[in-house]
Amino acid sequence: MTHDIVIIGAGVAGSSLATVLAGHGWDVLLLERRQLPQHKVCGEFLSPESQASLRAMSLYDTVVALGPRPITHARLIAPSGVRVRVELPGTAWGVSRLALDFALAQAAEHAGAQVRLGVTATAVQTSAAPYRITLRSASGQPALVQARAVVVACGRHPLPGLRPDRAEARARPTYVGVKCHYAGVTLPPEVRLYLFGGGYAGLAPIEGGRTNVCMLVTREAFTRAGSSVAAMIEAGPRSYRRARAAGERGRRRAGRHWSASGRLGSLRANRRCGSDDSAAVWRRHGNGASRGRGVRAAGQ
Ligand SMILES: Cc1cc2nc3c(=O)[nH]c(=O)nc-3n(C[C@H](O)[C@H](O)[C@H](O)COP(=O)(O)OP(=O)(O)OC[C@H]3O[C@@H](n4cnc5c(N)ncnc54)[C@H](O)[C@@H]3O)c2cc1C
Repeated sequence: MTHDIVIIGAGVAGSSLATVLAGHGWDVLLLERRQLPQHKVCGEFLSPESQASLRAMSLYDTVVALGPRPITHARLIAPSGVRVRVELPGTAWGVSRLALDFALAQAAEHAGAQVRLGVTATAVQTSAAPYRITLRSASGQPALVQARAVVVACGRHPLPGLRPDRAEARARPTYVGVKCHYAGVTLPPEVRLYLFGGGYAGLAPIEGGRTNVCMLVTREAFTRAGSSVAAMIEAGPRSYRRARAAGERGRRRAGRHWSASGRLGSLRANRRCGSDDSAAVWRRHGNGASRGRGVRAAGQ
């Protein structure tokens, strides 16, 4: 059987595209190597502009149903302590990737797309149509599918079959992204960015009254903090500690922490997660409903 289109990657891009095309009657196969729902290292800030895109794709109500937290302004804090408050051009949203990616994949399925989780595309043969995509299931089972069109929506992951250019990859600095959700943090409707040598930390309110703390730091800064996500977030830069002391007493971690590493600036040069906690996250949420069988109820 030849699909109209195979979309590789059920992130925001892949699932949105799958929803739109399936809604137009296309035969869509959406592949995702991980199980859903899953955490992703991200600031979890949806800009005001994104709402127009969501409306255009009939996905606005899907995201509203997740209870995103409104964010009206940004606050930048320099290492010197100088603070700048910036009004956003509209109301942004804070919503976790755990909820967002899962909801978008479900929307794709409801629109008629076939969603296969735990399936990795390992190679794409594009010399002649129909294009052939080689798959590997979670159990290691290989398979082949065909499509009239292929969209690679793998995010920062390398294109299947294309190896990173090692020399180019080595020339770029490596960054480490870390993230953790907290409860008990009182944050106004703002995204807060603490800038410091070697990176920045962003705080954003998200659904369920939690706060996402996300940092992007150089590999050197991460190593200095003991190469541990918890140490990086807990120790943090000087200004971050000051902020904690000022207004974030009573906070507590609302879950595990997550990290990913890669070289910015080139899709081909990006690398896989350094210490992805996906297995632990899976157990923590205890949801076996979607494993390899399409996208079912979240049941977090
Ligand atoms: C530290 C950090 C903070 C960020 N903060 C923000 C923010 O606050 N707001 C914002 O808008 N953006 C933010 N971004 C950027 C944002 O995360 C990306 O722009 C967004 O995730 C890209 O979406 P995507 O769908 O293209 O890719 P992704 O969300 O990365 O999705 C790609 C999917 O493809 C899957 N996949 C990969 N390879 C394969 C394969 N071979 N077979 C099958 N599936 C595969 C992956 O598992 C993944 O689910 C941040 C990025 C970083 C690193």
